[in-house]
Amino acid sequence: MPETPRPGRDPGPPNQGPSVTSPSPSFFDTGALVSVLTTQPLGRPLDYKAPEGGCHLGSFVEVPLGPRKVIGVVWGPGKGDYDLAKIRSVIRVLDAAPMREELQSFLKRAADYTLTPLPAMLRLATRAPGLSNPPSMQKVYRLGDRAPDRETKARTKVLEALREYGGLAFTLKELSDLAGVTSSVVKGLVKQGAVLEEDTPRDAPYPPLDPNLAGADLTPDQSAAAQALNDGIRNARFKTTLLRGVTGSGKTEVYLEAVAEALRRKQQALVLLPEIALTAEFLTRVEARFGARPAEWHSGVTMTERRRVWKMVGQGRCQLVVGARSALFLPFQDLGLIVVDEEHDTSYKQEDGVLYNARDMAVLRGSLCEAQVVLASATPSLESWANAEAGKYARLDLDTRFGEAVMPDLRAIDMRTERLPASRWISPNLQRAVEARVQAGEQALLFLNRRGYAPVTICRACGHQVGCDHCDARMVEHRFLKRLMCHQCGETKPMPSVCPSCEAEDRLAAVGPGVERLTEEAQALFPDARIATLSSDMFGSARALKAQIAEIAEGEADIIVGTQLVAKGHNFPNLTLVGVIDADLGLQGSDLRAAERTFQLMRQVAGRAGRAEKPGQALLQTFQPEHPVIRAILSGDEEGFWRAEAAERSHAGVPPFGRMAGIILSSTDMQEAFDIGNLLARNDGPIRAAGGQVFGPAPAPIARVRGRHRVRLLVKAPKGAALQPALAKWVAPVKGSAQFRLAVDIDPQSFY
Ligand code: ADP
Ligand code: ZN
Repeated sequence: MPETPRPGRDPGPPNQGPSVTSPSPSFFDTGALVSVLTTQPLGRPLDYKAPEGGCHLGSFVEVPLGPRKVIGVVWGPGKGDYDLAKIRSVIRVLDAAPMREELQSFLKRAADYTLTPLPAMLRLATRAPGLSNPPSMQKVYRLGDRAPDRETKARTKVLEALREYGGLAFTLKELSDLAGVTSSVVKGLVKQGAVLEEDTPRDAPYPPLDPNLAGADLTPDQSAAAQALNDGIRNARFKTTLLRGVTGSGKTEVYLEAVAEALRRKQQALVLLPEIALTAEFLTRVEARFGARPAEWHSGVTMTERRRVWKMVGQGRCQLVVGARSALFLPFQDLGLIVVDEEHDTSYKQEDGVLYNARDMAVLRGSLCEAQVVLASATPSLESWANAEAGKYARLDLDTRFGEAVMPDLRAIDMRTERLPASRWISPNLQRAVEARVQAGEQALLFLNRRGYAPVTICRACGHQVGCDHCDARMVEHRFLKRLMCHQCGETKPMPSVCPSCEAEDRLAAVGPGVERLTEEAQALFPDARIATLSSDMFGSARALKAQIAEIAEGEADIIVGTQLVAKGHNFPNLTLVGVIDADLGLQGSDLRAAERTFQLMRQVAGRAGRAEKPGQALLQTFQPEHPVIRAILSGDEEGFWRAEAAERSHAGVPPFGRMAGIILSSTDMQEAFDIGNLLARNDGPIRAAGGQVFGPAPAPIARVRGRHRVRLLVKAPKGAALQPALAKWVAPVKGSAQFRLAVDIDPQSFY
């Protein structure tokens, strides 16, 4: 990770942080003083008296807070620095496994690292509804041992259904549906003792996964990699491994072996995926490998299911969780393996609320619970690559694609020599290549990383560009929705027919391409082809998107027009050509990771071509074929690219060879944000004392979002600097109006 949450230190043994003092007792008798951390924004744990029957360290409890009752966790012994007579009692201990010390330290360390108040960290760890509800029960039905007084057709159906499923129990609805009878038939059998009615907890354990079912026959390379990971799990010592392998080389096969090893050792495993749309395909794969589905954790999961995951993980009755970054905060009892798939993916960085990078937090949690951490990618982040170079991470490489599949042939199309009419983006060269593939019955992908119809809507009469009312951002036309949309705040408005500025009629024009416009062009160029568009904003639900992806994989489309969404790990076996419409797109702009991002994205997209027996080709339209990044992409010299990029960043002292933090000041009042920014810049003593430098204040690249003016400061410091304590000291005196907000972004990934 860029700088692990133990600044300036190599990954060493856990528990070196400031958090661990003398060991806490693990049980508190009735009336004993305990300190309880709640999710309320108070800053620090408060003292309470242990309830009747006592409580454990880590117990989830309900406590009074002013007139309210809130949920908290017993964080340690009471401090006793408050008037004893005024200390109130814990109301009750909740029905949940106590939080383990490992998770407590994780929250503390993550809070220290990201400069987040502990209550906000605890909120991340308690994101399951109904935690304070009494354990809810439900009635289930199973086969009894008495025969009914009289057999009817309907009754026989019920008994047969129950016999067929052995000892399994069903809810009333499940059973009557299964047998095709009304629920009164089941009730009748209960009266006779032929069917038993029982109360069981509603949150059912997950069906066991069988690690000993046969997996794939691994190739020698895959087998060696799996062996190395399994040895790590058997050693039960924290270790991070970068699993680098070209797309289709079998990284998933390999880390599923590590999952199997963790399960055999009765340990839990967690697999993080960057995109919800990827989970469906992955769950199916897990089911095929282990005979049952694992738990799923992401924003698309129902509240009831979330609570079940949270509770069962805490009771050790859920062996494998597949999920989004927040799954890292689940109360695992014995976590042996954390896999971060597509570890380079920028969506691992949470950009809202608590600003954390799940990849780095996975390494932190792994270090605290002695787990194996596997970072898998075809195009690792420079951070992970550098950590592997430095020997902090182990590295495993899979250099060939599995089976017949070979890496696609990559070529540039020099756009300076192509002749294109205005407002056309598919060059004649690319057009011919697509036609050939479609004629051969294969699929082609046209890739453009821009959602919507056109990035800019301009008035031809006055030059006005339609912008968002709340942000300093242009509105993007979404023709399928017949609306303009702001990609910063999500605000939409109907497409105006007159210019909002000069009121000229019918003079608004789309400028530049988005995927929707590209679809139009493709329809005109390839009238006989079936064309599908894949863009994250075009699907109402994850389910609809999943269905569309499955259809495309089955050959329902000849040409796919897509954004970044298609670059992420979907398997389209018949896809043999990838045409990148604008390979230069990501190279513009001043982001320090622009080269890295372009390199990763282009390699990932190109990797979509030719996954099965048919060889693939990737064509990159570019106006600068001699650009070093484009050359590196084409030549496939990944190590060369990383080395050059590392040398450049090292020279500039920027991550991962230096430290950075962004300070975002925002307010409805622009002057206030600037005044506080200037004050901070003048009083930069704490930062200079730590060897760092402050840049700014400057308006953020998008200076207004959702009606709030945004000002940024950037802090740069040498690699070993103790940045967080310095930042904390520096911003502590800041006071602003009720409208004012200050956010610290450690290791910022985006600079908007
Ligand atoms: P990656 O995760 O590196 O992209 P996958 O693990 O998804 O690669 O493998 C790519 C494809 O090849 C998948 O369909 C997978 O099932 C198949 N595959 C990989 N290794 C093997 C193997 N040893 N035996 C059979 N199929 C394999
Ligand atoms: Zn907006």
